Amino acid sequence: MLLKPKTSLVQKIYFVDICKGLFITMKNMLFSKKVTIQYPEERRDYSDRFRGMHYIKATNGVENCTACMLCPTVCPAECIHIVAGERPDKEKYPVQFEIDVLRCCFCGMCEEACPKDAIKLSTIYEMSQTHREVYEKDFLLEQRGNK
Ligand code: SF4
Ligand code: SF4
Repeated sequence: MLLKPKTSLVQKIYFVDICKGLFITMKNMLFSKKVTIQYPEERRDYSDRFRGMHYIKATNGVENCTACMLCPTVCPAECIHIVAGERPDKEKYPVQFEIDVLRCCFCGMCEEACPKDAIKLSTIYEMSQTHREVYEKDFLLEQRGNK
């Protein structure tokens, strides 16, 4: 015959367990490190290696990009679209440079592949949108000042 374990009244009403739970809650509330932050007044520090908003670097007002097409070739999300043009002082330049940021997975491969150090990913993470966003060349050039 199977014997039922004896339980006291204190055990039956879970008194000890409730006290233990309350103790843990109070201990975490009063002595644990704060996890929630009051965004946007408070902001977290991100590593310099964080990959956020793209930007295009420029030298003396001219974009470093020579429209070599390496970044759209390596991009796994196929979200970079470049139309190349020619200018007298430079072999090639991007007439159009667009990044469909909704498709981008922020892998950083475009940055790695670029031989001209032209396309970069900044640490800017405030990129939420209410509509589909395509970053165009002028916008990407402006972002270098905000990085
Ligand atoms: S970060 Fe990755 S997915 Fe985004 S544009 Fe660059 S290569 Fe493409
Ligand atoms: S890899 Fe660099 S230089 Fe080549 S198209 Fe992309 S941004 Fe321009």
